[in-house]
Amino acid sequence: MAGIYIHIPFCKQACHYCDFHFSTSVKYKNEIIQAIQSEVELRKDYLSGASISSIYFGGGTPSLLSAKEINRIIDQVYLIHPVENDIEITLEANPDDLTKGKISELRTTPVNRFSIGIQSFFEEDLKWMNRAHNAQEAESSIKRAQDAGFNNITCDLIYGYPLLSEAKWTNNINKMIEFEVPHLSAYSMTVEPQTALGAFIRKGKQQPMNEGQSADQFILLMQKMQENGYEQYEISNFARDKNYSQHNTSYWKGIPYIGIGPSAHSFNGVERQWNVANNMKYLESISTDQVPAEKELLSLSDQFNEYIMTSLRTKWGVDYAYLEKRFPSDFLTEINEPLQSYIARGKVQKSEKHYILTDEGKLIADQIAADLFIT
Ligand code: SF4
Repeated sequence: MAGIYIHIPFCKQACHYCDFHFSTSVKYKNEIIQAIQSEVELRKDYLSGASISSIYFGGGTPSLLSAKEINRIIDQVYLIHPVENDIEITLEANPDDLTKGKISELRTTPVNRFSIGIQSFFEEDLKWMNRAHNAQEAESSIKRAQDAGFNNITCDLIYGYPLLSEAKWTNNINKMIEFEVPHLSAYSMTVEPQTALGAFIRKGKQQPMNEGQSADQFILLMQKMQENGYEQYEISNFARDKNYSQHNTSYWKGIPYIGIGPSAHSFNGVERQWNVANNMKYLESISTDQVPAEKELLSLSDQFNEYIMTSLRTKWGVDYAYLEKRFPSDFLTEINEPLQSYIARGKVQKSEKHYILTDEGKLIADQIAADLFIT
């Protein structure tokens, strides 16, 4: 079992908060698709023959690709790798791309899940973020996808930014519940220094994010999703009726994945690899049959820390039996004291042999994980 991530490095315009790799020029789109197909072949042995259970088109904006271009990439994956029958194929899509015509075109592909970047249903918020879509498209894209029979939909929302009052945040969450989307991902706005938002804050044109507001809105999110039958199966991810993201769940469970395309990351259990985040360098290198990537061999403590960081964020928590089986006993001795302290303070709870964050613990998940890291 393994996953494939395909990075499509193009966007119509740059959202002010975004630090992902993309180009706003699609001049080399065809060349990049060709190079992605080549990279799938060049790296055919990376997953040691494991069958593919998920393909995830991320970016950038994969919905800028035509159905034909998406099919070219998927066909190549099917040609090179064994693929599971119930494979999940997700396409990240921006609301302005999901026109009626585009959605029916996408019905001709094996894509069976949309991840729609809604972010907000408010016009002024979308403008503030410099999103390419408007509030009306935010709503109509979900409805159109559902009407066309795409029921496996996840939507993204952002909270914790100055324009977002409690009333607006409540409205955004309620809309998702009304649309009965089976899956929601919600992220607190983070400010990366090299983004437009980072520059606005440095120049005093924009007030910084407020941690207290973010925490309050996260608490509201957890309450409302729970009240409406959604399970918080990962800190930022909510699903109804166990509509978990197969792809992301694989990440969190440490299942190997290969990342194809500029800036894409890969992981095979013991090694991380990341491709160059530059479209031209990527094209040049792939044209000489070289994958332009850096690698890092993960030490045992890196693997331990990685497991703690990802598993702690999920509803399944840290599996103590797995830690005992996989890592030296002194690692477990080292984390015992901080772990017991967090349990005593009600931030972590023990269920049989699993350690799981409480709602209070979810507010400081990164800090708890860092305190459990082996140095
Ligand atoms: S559409 Fe997505 S990838 Fe593109 S700039 Fe906006 S947030 Fe970044």
